[in-house]
Amino acid sequence: MVPSTLKKIHLGVFPTPIHKLSRLSAYLGGPQIYIKRDDLTGLALGGNKTRKLEYLLADALGNDSDCIITAGAAQSNHCRQTAAACATLGLECHLVLGGQAPNVANGNLLLDQLFGAHIHWSGENRKGEDIPNIVATLREQGRNPYVVPYGGSNAIGALGFINAFYELNTQCKDTAMPSEFSDIVFASSSGATHCGLVLGKEMCSASSRIIGINIDKNEQGKDGYKSQLHTLIKDTADTLSLDYPTDIDEIQLKDEYIGAGYGVVGELEREAIALCAQLEGILLDPVYTGRAMGGLIDMIRKEHFCAESNILFWHTGGAPALFSYAEVLQSR
Ligand SMILES: *Cc1c(COP(=O)(O)O)cnc(C)c1O
Repeated sequence: MVPSTLKKIHLGVFPTPIHKLSRLSAYLGGPQIYIKRDDLTGLALGGNKTRKLEYLLADALGNDSDCIITAGAAQSNHCRQTAAACATLGLECHLVLGGQAPNVANGNLLLDQLFGAHIHWSGENRKGEDIPNIVATLREQGRNPYVVPYGGSNAIGALGFINAFYELNTQCKDTAMPSEFSDIVFASSSGATHCGLVLGKEMCSASSRIIGINIDKNEQGKDGYKSQLHTLIKDTADTLSLDYPTDIDEIQLKDEYIGAGYGVVGELEREAIALCAQLEGILLDPVYTGRAMGGLIDMIRKEHFCAESNILFWHTGGAPALFSYAEVLQSR
């Protein structure tokens, strides 16, 4: 486990459930698929950012910060969960969102407003480039701002997903569960989920393959996403004084499902969302889990896994964004 000297606060309801997707598994005719329901973390319609925020906001409180700043897309699930967490803690929340204010706030953006967040529209600067200016302004006003990184992904946020692996490990002791999953598949985008699962697996001496489905960027090389992930794994291992020699080539990241880019729904996502809804009564989201499940379905069809495997799909949340995608998701 992450040592208790690294402080966290309680924001969610854990452990999140795991259950089998029997009808989807039968429909695909391949391995058994299970699901880890981090869409049910309990904070403001749930999602994976709750686990990171338990550590990040504990750090903010430890620094006596009185306001929080973070950034994301207009439909950011991370920003929605941050806004809700700030509301529970009585902290002022500033969100720096890419693009421009729409005429009607929908999905996550509507919820950001309900949680009382201050919204700063940043146009083309989609990844928090405007944060330093806002920090400077708040400091001039005598405030003590705390910056939560894009997607909540740094060595502090990743601690939440190390514990998530321990949580899973404990759940696997239940005789109704497989004693270990051969593969764990999930959406990977800013990196703390992926990083935490890789290190949690190592710390638990488990052997599951940790397979991230890349959601939004596939540049290679030293500034590419895989290399950022590698750095985040090293930084997080350092935070824990863990001797973990990371090899970038061991990181499993599937780049082939990015389609037309971040947030663009194609046939892959549409089919995955429809299958999970109609066979399992489970809502995926248009940006992350729809794509990740679409990737898993494709890998199963291409016989990437042996038929006896037990695969865990880690549901990372995001369904509130469905409503803002009504035009591309509605049946015609
Ligand atoms: C942020 C997010 C992810 C990606 O998690 P990272 O830790 O940023 O890689 C996946 N799914 C959903 C629904 C998210 O909001």
